[in-house]
Amino acid sequence: MNLVKENRYLEGKHAVVTGGSRGIGAAIAASLANRGARLTIMGRTLDTLEHRAAAMTRDSGAQVQAMQCDVTDDKGVQAAFARARTAFGPVDVLVNNAGGAEAALFAEISRALWDRMLAVNLTGTFVCTAEVLPAMLQMRSGRIVNIASMAGLRGFKTMVAYSAAKHGVVGFTRSLALETARHGVTVNAVCPGYTDTDLTNTGVANLVRALGKTPEEARAMLVRTVPRGKLIEPDEVASAVDWLCSPQAAAVTGIALPIAGGEGA
Ligand code: NDP
Repeated sequence: MNLVKENRYLEGKHAVVTGGSRGIGAAIAASLANRGARLTIMGRTLDTLEHRAAAMTRDSGAQVQAMQCDVTDDKGVQAAFARARTAFGPVDVLVNNAGGAEAALFAEISRALWDRMLAVNLTGTFVCTAEVLPAMLQMRSGRIVNIASMAGLRGFKTMVAYSAAKHGVVGFTRSLALETARHGVTVNAVCPGYTDTDLTNTGVANLVRALGKTPEEARAMLVRTVPRGKLIEPDEVASAVDWLCSPQAAAVTGIALPIAGGEGA
């Protein structure tokens, strides 16, 4: 058995990770690069993307391109995927990871906040998937992994809009998986609990502001939601995505996999 070949099961394949410049997306991009994939990482901030792409190439020797794109801008998404395909070919793996969370009690949710949460977390997933699925169906091969959240499986106070969007991502995943199951394309969701990233740091800052807690107290409140007593690490989410993209997971489609240290058990 050639172990090097076995481990690099994405050799020569093209993987796109939206929101691949930071946090969970950056960890996912790095792990897929280690499997041999050529990576396109997308996000709104070009210098952060370019910095990450250069670091990834330095660390793993992978071919990585940075593609500026806001997933809430349909035309921008179409242009970015067209440029990505021109450089690296049809997309074999899509990870819909770009997302954002804004907390507010229901009475304080404006129509604008509601629209922002659905646009970045749910509609962005639809628009990016539409860019890659026809070619995957034609190739009879492809992996789509959507980064949902535990908020896609249960409710959270002050998270009505975000949670509705992430429940939408889970429903999108399950339904699309049924449509693609006979065509060699798997579609799965990964549902992290509180993960140690900028997004969680913003959540801590919000709790400090709203409840008058110290940053340490606010962080401890979030940690208490994770039964194992420790936040999830981006690499732990990345390893689940890595497995879903492996040949061993060919029969896995339509699942919403919690990576949450026991939350929701
Ligand atoms: P971060 O805020 O650390 O990173 C978000 C990434 O998404 C950045 O690369 C950011 O780049 C990009 N991004 C944000 N908005 C857009 C947009 N409109 N268009 C394109 N790219 C965008 O978040 P996390 O790594 O924590 O979260 C990643 C995913 O995981 C999200 O979907 C989130 O909902 C989900 N998640 C996170 C959890 C957590 O506790 N952290 C828990 C459960 C789920 P830029 O700003 O330059 O655009």
